[in-house]
Amino acid sequence: MARQLIQKCKICGVYSYKLECPKCGGTSQAAAPLKWTPEDSQAHRRRKLNDVGSDAWNESLPSLTEEE
Ligand SMILES: [Zn+2]
Repeated sequence: MARQLIQKCKICGVYSYKLECPKCGGTSQAAAPLKWTPEDSQAHRRRKLNDVGSDAWNESLPSLTEEE
């Protein structure tokens, strides 16, 4: 597994970039990666925010004919 930049102290839980905890001097190890999912759980809110499907939204879309 690739080495992570963010380290977390095994004793006090402080996050740092160093392998030695700046607070208690304990050993730090790579923090667990952030949870990530390819599914966009906020997609319905994003579409509502941009008013997708309306005439204004349709006009804002780029078209190829303008390039020529
Ligand atoms: Zn510590």
